[in-house]
Amino acid sequence: MLVSDILRRKGSEVVSAPPNQTVADAAQLMARQGIGSVLVLSDGSIAGILSERDIVRTLAEAGAGCLDRPISELMTSHVVTCGPEERVDRVMALMTDGRFRHVPVIDQGRLVGLVSIGDVVKHRLEEAQAEVEHLSAYVAGG
Ligand code: AMP
Repeated sequence: MLVSDILRRKGSEVVSAPPNQTVADAAQLMARQGIGSVLVLSDGSIAGILSERDIVRTLAEAGAGCLDRPISELMTSHVVTCGPEERVDRVMALMTDGRFRHVPVIDQGRLVGLVSIGDVVKHRLEEAQAEVEHLSAYVAGG
């Protein structure tokens, strides 16, 4: 299974915010959209990623004042990405090794989507289900 298989069903929408927006605005955006991260875009290119974990960690360390700070102060600037033709197994390994749950997808320098660990698990379950059905039909037919 490839990353493009996931995007074909999920679509290419990526929820994003500019680096100078406040963390409070980003938190509201995540809550409204029911997601756990926003990609930070500056002039159309990736400047970083802000996840709910970044907000929770800074809330715990620095208190609620961090909500008024710009996203750029809390985000992770070095963003790991993948390509649409990469195998989902490899993206799972990236997430496990890097301890993050969101990976933007870049095709020829262009942002074409974002894969979350939820998307990966959903597709792995569907794949396993299809395999069980295939094997059951094979056994019943034999
Ligand atoms: P997450 O598990 O995705 O909510 O994020 C956990 C931590 O990894 C946070 O500090 C994020 O800013 C960071 N992070 C999330 N996605 C990525 C990514 N694709 N590349 C690098 N860091 C990331």
